[in-house]
Amino acid sequence: MPSFLKSQKGLSPIIVILITIGIIAIAGGIYWWQKTAIKESTPAPTFTTPTMPTSTPHTATPITPTSTPSTSTPTPPATFQPKSKFLKDDATAQKIASVQILSYQLAKSPSKNSFGFKFISGLVQLGYIYPKSDPSALQMLQNFEKDQNLPISTVVNSKVLQKLDILLEEQESSEAQLAKTFPLYNDMASLPADYPTKNHALYIYATVFRSLPTQLANWTFDNFKIFYNRHQIADPITYYFGYCPSLDCLSRDDFTLAATLLHEYAHYLEACKQVGTKGFYEIDWNVDNSDWANLIINPKRLGSLNAVGSLSATPKDPIKRSSPVNPVLYPNNQGFLYHEGSISQYAGALLSGGAQEGKTNDIREDFAESFAAYVLEGQVFRGKAANNTIIAQKYNWLKTNVFQGKEYQTGNANYATLDFAPSDNDQGFKSIPAKVEDYSLLDPSFVKWDFQIK
Ligand SMILES: [Zn+2]
Repeated sequence: MPSFLKSQKGLSPIIVILITIGIIAIAGGIYWWQKTAIKESTPAPTFTTPTMPTSTPHTATPITPTSTPSTSTPTPPATFQPKSKFLKDDATAQKIASVQILSYQLAKSPSKNSFGFKFISGLVQLGYIYPKSDPSALQMLQNFEKDQNLPISTVVNSKVLQKLDILLEEQESSEAQLAKTFPLYNDMASLPADYPTKNHALYIYATVFRSLPTQLANWTFDNFKIFYNRHQIADPITYYFGYCPSLDCLSRDDFTLAATLLHEYAHYLEACKQVGTKGFYEIDWNVDNSDWANLIINPKRLGSLNAVGSLSATPKDPIKRSSPVNPVLYPNNQGFLYHEGSISQYAGALLSGGAQEGKTNDIREDFAESFAAYVLEGQVFRGKAANNTIIAQKYNWLKTNVFQGKEYQTGNANYATLDFAPSDNDQGFKSIPAKVEDYSLLDPSFVKWDFQIK
């Protein structure tokens, strides 16, 4: 028999005594408590108050255990299957999507034929602007991440890539639809795989030319074929990026592409005599009649517009400074004549071979820049016209003689807050950017173009 049972039996009288003492003590305690409870009639509130905090953590406790395991256990990275035409066949994109590559470090300036270059081309196709004030692919990535509520980083991971893939896929079919209406669609080659797609490039073309009054953009093969003699259809990189030969092509966002297309198309309209521009030039320039023969080409000849001679003239009212005979050039842009009536510095382009017979400028650039500004920076052009009679005359001439009354609600309404010549004190220089598109591109808040030209 176990020994402790024996001893328990032997101790029972002591236990009885202890129980008796206990009962007396409890009874005494109850009697004392009842007496004090009656005396202090208000302990009830002080007693209920502590129950409040004890009940609050109690309801909160279930949340803590359920949330703790989910943060302590690492969530597996999201995998996906790229669906956009742009990404689905790319080997690196597939590896990032299947998290074989957890994060792809994006270079500040990705080299061609790299996945970084392709990724940036993807962002370009969503309208993102390669920042002109701080040219960096990383800045572009971070603008995208901020826009899409993704964590800010310097890498492309599956989440970033999936967002890009979804957005590209969403727009690919509507882009293709519009691109295929462009009369030269079947004659244009595809771009290299790390560039934007042919459909996207021609979607921009179609968007730009459809924004013009129909009588300006004759929607035929012949019309655009003549225009594209200048743009060398055989070279697909050139037709997307203009004359940009290398890595700098990254800076060619779609907004710049649109501005360039409009500028070059203005030269074409003028040279093929679809638009008579003499009245435009007479607003601001001393035009010599003998120059006009150089300007016009025969559209049937399919000659290169580059072969067209310049249209040379001097400004009617040149700004002169230190020397009475020397017109003022932009301090940081010596190939251009400063003129208050210019919409951009480029509009004041000097003759490439230097002044001839006293004539300083190739005034075709004034028409081309003004034409592009009218379509793409409508608000800017009207805003400047309100403060400058020469600019107002140019705007109204274009409105009446070229655009048949059509006006555009385009461009950067905040242009006047920008400083286009930060190193100079001259207010005139500060108000005129190098190119028309800079009214938007040099605004750091302009991170994405919406492809709207209305
Ligand atoms: Zn030009």
